[in-house]
Amino acid sequence: MLPLRIVIILYCLCFLAPAWGAKEYGLKPLEIAPGTYVLLGVNEHFNFSNGGNIVNVGFIVTDDGVIVIDSGPSRFYGEQLRAAIGRITDRPILKLFNTHLHPDHILGNQAFEDVPIAALAGTVEGIREQGELFNDSMYRLAGAWMAGTRVVVPTEIVKPGFVEIGGHRLELIELAGHSHADLVILDHATGVLFAADVVFHGRTPTTPHADVGQWLQALDTIAGLDFKLLVPGHGSVVTDAGAIAQTRNYLQWLTTRLNKAAEQGMSMAEVLQPDAPPSIKELAVFHEEYQRSVVHLFPEIEAKVLERGRVVQE
Ligand SMILES: [Zn+2]
Repeated sequence: MLPLRIVIILYCLCFLAPAWGAKEYGLKPLEIAPGTYVLLGVNEHFNFSNGGNIVNVGFIVTDDGVIVIDSGPSRFYGEQLRAAIGRITDRPILKLFNTHLHPDHILGNQAFEDVPIAALAGTVEGIREQGELFNDSMYRLAGAWMAGTRVVVPTEIVKPGFVEIGGHRLELIELAGHSHADLVILDHATGVLFAADVVFHGRTPTTPHADVGQWLQALDTIAGLDFKLLVPGHGSVVTDAGAIAQTRNYLQWLTTRLNKAAEQGMSMAEVLQPDAPPSIKELAVFHEEYQRSVVHLFPEIEAKVLERGRVVQE
């Protein structure tokens, strides 16, 4: 048994810990088109120094108020995002959109509880079902940066189509593939396309909820849109289709590799050893994300190949 004095000190430290963790994300909104800002995350995996800030978040200052696209990985991030918006405009926040269910895009929602938080129906359901799990794992990955963060489920369901807000005609597009519900937003006033995690740029795509076939179709849809600037979910902003091609290239390489490995009867341990061309290997966090993808995707691909083999033999 610990002496009572030590127990009391430890108990107090637990309460002080969140205050130590209240670090600054140093958010710097970058104006990419009139009234349109992005906050670029780093091309890394979640860790104790980046506090989960690996994600791109955006906002549009319209005549009537501000539209925010994703809220970042933690309560601190959400609060600091809101403060950063407040330094640029005193117009009210009208709405926050969550592009999909992943924690780096939604765990700042708490700072926007006083405004409508909108997402596709599948995203709302996903956050309701898995949000707490994400929150727990983010605490393990980003530590004290997550202090006081809790899951806030979106309050409004997005229907795909057009909405007019403060002089901006926004096209809300429902896609799937990176997750089971991916919201992409094209602002026809500026030509800025918020492509969410359907597009990664310079960083290896993540696949925990991916359906690669659907994802490739979603990339085709995006490639057909008339945009001037594309904001990927991760990585720098682009003016052309380069990031779309890069994401497609990676996904095609990944599925080809995993299918071939299954057909050749390779073990999981062998598949985990990457054998990739330079254009793939040079993507940020390649080794880590590739290995995660093998774990997510290989068992199902292997089962399908085995099943095909069984049917052929019969
Ligand atoms: Zn994601």
